[in-house]
Amino acid sequence: MSADCLFCKIIAGEIPANIIYEDSLLVVFEDIDPQAPQHFLIVPKKHIATTLDLTAEDNELVGHVYQIAGKVARDSGFSADGFRVVNNCNDGGGQTVWHIHFHLLGGRNMTWPPG
Ligand code: 5GP
Ligand code: ZN
Repeated sequence: MSADCLFCKIIAGEIPANIIYEDSLLVVFEDIDPQAPQHFLIVPKKHIATTLDLTAEDNELVGHVYQIAGKVARDSGFSADGFRVVNNCNDGGGQTVWHIHFHLLGGRNMTWPPG
């Protein structure tokens, strides 16, 4: 837990969110400003600021994130049509919350290149 971290506060239940899945390693909740018909944030419970702060100790965690991305996509009904998992890193990558998270976007066709 990092004292001034928004996502640590959501994980601790101090700030409300629409949590749709939780286990010992992560939580999944709806993004407050959805960029697709279905937009979830997959957020490890461990406070890791950015992708650059991951270590070998986190390998299992990151694998688990992708496994749960698939599970949520299937359970939400958009897995067959297709979806996107996005991790923004640092300012130039579009990161605005400094607690690692993975966007899971579904329910519409995605474009490439991304913005
Ligand atoms: P980033 O820009 O760091 O990749 O993604 C941060 C995401 O967190 C954004 O998509 C933003 O809409 C979302 N977000 C910011 N504040 C809150 C909040 O208080 N609650 C929820 N559920 N999502 C938030
Ligand atoms: Zn945090």
